[in-house]
Amino acid sequence: MRAATRCIAWTVARSSTEPLGGAWNVAQVRACCSHERPAQGLAERLGLEEARGEDGGMRLTVLGGCGAWPAAGQACSGYLVEHDGFRLLLDPGYATLPRLLQHTAAEAVDAVLVSHGHPDHCADLHPLLRARTLGNQDDPPPAVPVHALPGATDAVLALDGSGTLQAAYVLREFSAGDHLEIGPFGIDTWLLPHFVPNAGLRLTAAGRVLAYTGDTGPSPELVELARESTRPGRVPDGCC
Ligand SMILES: [Zn+2]
Ligand SMILES: [Zn+2]
Repeated sequence: MRAATRCIAWTVARSSTEPLGGAWNVAQVRACCSHERPAQGLAERLGLEEARGEDGGMRLTVLGGCGAWPAAGQACSGYLVEHDGFRLLLDPGYATLPRLLQHTAAEAVDAVLVSHGHPDHCADLHPLLRARTLGNQDDPPPAVPVHALPGATDAVLALDGSGTLQAAYVLREFSAGDHLEIGPFGIDTWLLPHFVPNAGLRLTAAGRVLAYTGDTGPSPELVELARESTRPGRVPDGCC
């Protein structure tokens, strides 16, 4: 939420058995965003078409990277991570739903994972659930699992009062430090420094790793979080 905090996501290329040398091996940075420059498009900064990449079966679609609020025509943090036909929506921040719907249907999301409770990371969980519920009243999709730290999504889930969206989701709260299994993804979590509890997330599938900090300040935990994943060989201007 402030310039001192950053949101970083990057994928990766090396298997976890690769030794970690003085300089980490890096393939390609797939996504990387800083909350310090919310007005600049992430894809534009990265020079990627639609900031969409596929790497060894794990596909990352960047829905947005603005910090705090969505700039004109853009969205806050949001990432669609796919593997083996499973669609995990990571951090549905402000304005990410319209971007998501350009790629897939609301009811096609298999699970949601939220790093922390700031609305630029979870506000569009609400319209996602509305779209799943109100857009499919005759044949509603199954309740989508929502994985979040305790209380992180309470305010967003309460927007429609009790009842309306209750059948649309199953809240699965976790504690930072827990290991999660969500679809084909194994996920390690760390508590990282932020103004509210924030979980750093390390997603692994098919020998690939996606390390995502949510918002964080400096922390030695970041070394473990990003261990043997990757480090950008070329960091786009204004990014990270
Ligand atoms: Zn935050
Ligand atoms: Zn943020």
